[in-house]
Amino acid sequence: MDEKLRKVLRLLGETDVIIAVFDEDDRLVFANRKYRTAFFLSETELPLWPDMMRRNFDAKRGTVITNPDFDLWIKSTLSRRGKVPFRAFETDVHDGTWLWMTETVDDDGWMLCIASDITNLRTQERSLRRERDVALQASLTDDLTGIANHRFIMDRLANMLARRPPARSAQGCFAIFDVDNFKQINDRFGHATGDRLLIEFARSISLLVRRTDCFGRLGGEEFGLVLPSTSLNEAASLIDRMINQIRSLRPMPDLPDFSFSFSAGLAAVSPADTPSGIYGRADAALYHAKHSGRDQLAIELTPGPPNE
Ligand code: GH3
Ligand code: MG
Ligand code: MG
Repeated sequence: MDEKLRKVLRLLGETDVIIAVFDEDDRLVFANRKYRTAFFLSETELPLWPDMMRRNFDAKRGTVITNPDFDLWIKSTLSRRGKVPFRAFETDVHDGTWLWMTETVDDDGWMLCIASDITNLRTQERSLRRERDVALQASLTDDLTGIANHRFIMDRLANMLARRPPARSAQGCFAIFDVDNFKQINDRFGHATGDRLLIEFARSISLLVRRTDCFGRLGGEEFGLVLPSTSLNEAASLIDRMINQIRSLRPMPDLPDFSFSFSAGLAAVSPADTPSGIYGRADAALYHAKHSGRDQLAIELTPGPPNE
């Protein structure tokens, strides 16, 4: 039996897991090598837990205690320490490591503390979080043009409808852009050149988009523009500038005369509007612009109430 107990104790000494036992007065009864290293104890000393914590607090080592007033901290901590049969929590240490600490308390008030270093785990978590952020970003970005995608535009549109500004100010607008005769451009120059044109189109329009507005690719050669707190008049003059800008582009160095254009349909937020409602009205206006000769803006035929 003694031989087996010695073996157990030797293992407890060798492990990198932090292990200690405190009695009902919170005096250390047993601490393995790793515990003594982590909390700066000599090989033999058996301090009271609060004394050990105070010593490390004064030396700025061991457990990180963010409260600058140690007495306040210990009072609050002791009001919870050892009161439940089991608890587990994360704690950080001044050397930059993170510990996953468990406390098991028996009926006599003796406490077994076991802590594992989870610093690497947290690093993985952090990189997972980073990867998730990158994936999230990608899920909202259009691959070809690098601007916002359909999902993001629809999300902004829903957001604009949900957060209405005060009744007397402009309620906002939504516009759909569609490149004119794009099929012909593809047929004439090839799909790759068509792609390059879409990238150039997105870049040129983006330069004119204000920070509060959102411009993105809905799909194919169609784009959406969300303009919160913007009146129809303001939106129309902004889009006219965009139309002029695209018309004046000469995107093919080998064909200095080549230019292209787009048509736009614009609708203003109306009371009790829905994303599909305003989208449909902008789309109907776009249809009108196409049928009126393209390269122009059409405003919804039945606008809502005055939107100054
Ligand atoms: P309209 O002026 O009436 O809009 O004529 P259009 O030719 O632009 O419209 P239509 O809808 O007939 O054709 C759109 C074309 O856009 C057809 C499709 O091949 C092309 N297209 C859609 N997505 C892409 C893309 O990612 N890259 C390229 N190069 N072409 C695309
Ligand atoms: Mg189209
Ligand atoms: Mg088109």
